[in-house]
Amino acid sequence: MTEPSAVAEARILIVGLGLIGGSLAAALREAGFGRRDSDDAGGGGPVKRAEILACDPDADEIARGIEMGLIDGGDTRLEGVIDGATLVVLAVPVLAMRGVMGELAGLLGRAAPQVVVTDVGSTKAAIRDGAVAAFGRMPPSLVLGHPIAGSEKSGVAAANPALYADHKVILTPEPDTDPAALARVRTLWAACGAEVLEMDVARHDQVLARTSHLPHLLAFSLVDTLARQDERLEIFRYAAGGFRDFTRIAGSDPVMWRDIFIANRDAVLTSLEDFEAGVARLRDAVERGDGDAMLATFDRASHARHYFDTLLNKTSYQAEYQMQQQGKLRYRVSPGGGVTGRIRVPGDKSISHRSIMLGALAEGVTEIKGFLEGEDSLATLQAFREMGVAIEGPHQGRVTVHGVGMHGLKAPSGPLYVGNAGTAMRLFAGLLAGQAFDTELTGDTSLTRRPMGRVADPLRLMGAEIDTAEGGRPPLHIHGGKTLKGIAYDMPMASAQVKSCLLLAGLYAEGETRVREPAPTRDHTERMLTGFGYAVQREGDICWLEGGGKLTAAPIDVPSDISSATFFLVAAAITPGSDLVLEHVGINPTRIGVINILRLMGADLRQENERVVGGEPVADLHIRYTPLKGIEIPVDQVPLAIDEFPALFIAAANAEGVTRLRGAEELRVKESDRLQAMADGLAAIGVEHTLYPDGIDIMGGGRHEGPNYGGGRIDSLEDHRIAMAFTIAGLRASDAIVIDDCANVATSFPGFVDLARKVGLTLEEESGEEGA
Ligand code: NAP
Repeated sequence: MTEPSAVAEARILIVGLGLIGGSLAAALREAGFGRRDSDDAGGGGPVKRAEILACDPDADEIARGIEMGLIDGGDTRLEGVIDGATLVVLAVPVLAMRGVMGELAGLLGRAAPQVVVTDVGSTKAAIRDGAVAAFGRMPPSLVLGHPIAGSEKSGVAAANPALYADHKVILTPEPDTDPAALARVRTLWAACGAEVLEMDVARHDQVLARTSHLPHLLAFSLVDTLARQDERLEIFRYAAGGFRDFTRIAGSDPVMWRDIFIANRDAVLTSLEDFEAGVARLRDAVERGDGDAMLATFDRASHARHYFDTLLNKTSYQAEYQMQQQGKLRYRVSPGGGVTGRIRVPGDKSISHRSIMLGALAEGVTEIKGFLEGEDSLATLQAFREMGVAIEGPHQGRVTVHGVGMHGLKAPSGPLYVGNAGTAMRLFAGLLAGQAFDTELTGDTSLTRRPMGRVADPLRLMGAEIDTAEGGRPPLHIHGGKTLKGIAYDMPMASAQVKSCLLLAGLYAEGETRVREPAPTRDHTERMLTGFGYAVQREGDICWLEGGGKLTAAPIDVPSDISSATFFLVAAAITPGSDLVLEHVGINPTRIGVINILRLMGADLRQENERVVGGEPVADLHIRYTPLKGIEIPVDQVPLAIDEFPALFIAAANAEGVTRLRGAEELRVKESDRLQAMADGLAAIGVEHTLYPDGIDIMGGGRHEGPNYGGGRIDSLEDHRIAMAFTIAGLRASDAIVIDDCANVATSFPGFVDLARKVGLTLEEESGEEGA
């Protein structure tokens, strides 16, 4: 590599040329900083080359550093190398930092005028105290930092140019840290391939105490304990991979770790106390032979570990940065294709969420079949594990929930993360308002933009105490231990999530909780509560229940999700020659708006093999192509099809004549502003339409053969339903449709791409940010 480095320092001085300092020099060299081959820039005259110098008490280390090509020179004394340094990196052991900074304070006048100082110490509060002692205050040009990378080796001989690549470096700037100094230290680490983060000193020390110092302490202690018990170390002969994995870090440098435990004493002790309490709980469970308690702990840990792995591999659900990574997934749909066959789409999301919630609060064991293994429902499952519920699975759609009863949930140790799931957050809000402990509910970026006031406000009327972020948005802080009182609530908007939230809070409230809905909404909560033996009454548009009862576990067979089925219903409805059967679809009367609307548009759609499974009506949906016509969508069907509109807009784009939708302002506060997102997408492929604040008019292409619109590039705004809607639009496009940010499809419809290909679409998945 001969490109000049982005690091604009003239002279970097590394104090302490060991593993960390040496690796920094190596990484900088690799990035082109001060390389010999970069100085003869043509033209003849001498070019002043950037330099790396080092100071280390061991002259041999310096000689080795020069020999390895890492540094240009060095000295055993700071005063021998400080002149003209523009950036000083302190890479000495933690307890040596204070002395080095004292010495540096007296010599800094000889460094370059704009000199910046940084360090790499594994603890931060003690080093900041040392800096204040040495300089009289924290100098604005001193930026403390810590690369989260290392190895059990030490000394410059172990220097590794790739040590920091794809690792994190935490900087802990102070309020009066000079932003220019901070920017230069950021540039330094970024040049080494590291991801630079910032946090305050106290948080750094707490986080590292838990994630690094505690595990080292345990590894040292375990190996020492076993070694003492078996003086001849015979026992290690039999040690298998588990022991090796767990204790690898006990081979680390003892002196360095002594320093760290002295420097970060308080934070280490706090994390050790938490750990001891955890071990004591587990010990107790083992002693009592309490399999449920053990299973709860192991299950939680095993899933947390799995989550951690997926975080590391950047492949999983839940974490934000990772969602952003995944957001780069793109679909490319080739025009044309057929829609035939028999398929079963995944389980209903609403019912999957509720099955875990009620199963957890029930007495007894709830066996669930057909559970949607999407990221949202997995987040719900994980949240209950964090509240002490033992849950087995999911294994191929099967989940076993060991209910803890209405008052058996335990305080989670941190915020509950519900990913992208608005349903989960709103239902959880009701359920958690009735608990004895405080909770914090949070979600991903898109969820934290969505309004929660609509549940927080009525819950407050019931006596709940809930804090939200600005504008009633997540995170929600729910204060436990409040006495809830039943209320009669007139919902200002038709929302199943608000209704369910209040009914769940009502389970914990004194007296009756009554909810009136302005239009019918999904009644899965009422049906499932009834299935779990809890009486829910309904009269006209009001439903109510009496608090203080109990739930009894019941088996649940989750029907296929009609919202997911919709994409294939529309795909078949718009594609000449199609003939498709969707098996075991939930046809709850509060969800069949899409069936009613497609029929009104003239679709040939039949319900076959109708039956009732676990209180929910189910049927196979058989659909064949017939030409569709534009309609005025009846206002009473809007809440029954609210999630189905992105797909229905595509049906409208292919129908003959105009399709009019009004009274659907709710669409503007879904995962995206779906009215706007769909209008933009329709414009991109050339479908004529007029957008209104609460709806849209779509002028359908109306051709019975060939394309009804063009191809184009669609921004899904990371909204899964927008992405899937434009995927099926490809069936009647004249050119390829390319859809950006499709990763969230996995949140609601795992396996969508495979099923789409199975029925006859031609669809490629692409990654990366570049243009199509
Ligand atoms: P190392 O390999 O032992 O290197 C430390 C070097 O500093 C040694 O060459 C040591 O020389 C030298 N030194 C000690 N006192 C000095 C002084 N007063 N002036 C100049 N040099 C001095 O240790 P390391 O692993 O690189 O650790 C360095 C720092 O990085 C520590 O603060 C550590 O907490 C931090 N860190 C380490 C890791 C890791 O995994 N190793 C990870 C992140 C951060 P002698 O050997 O002659 O004493």
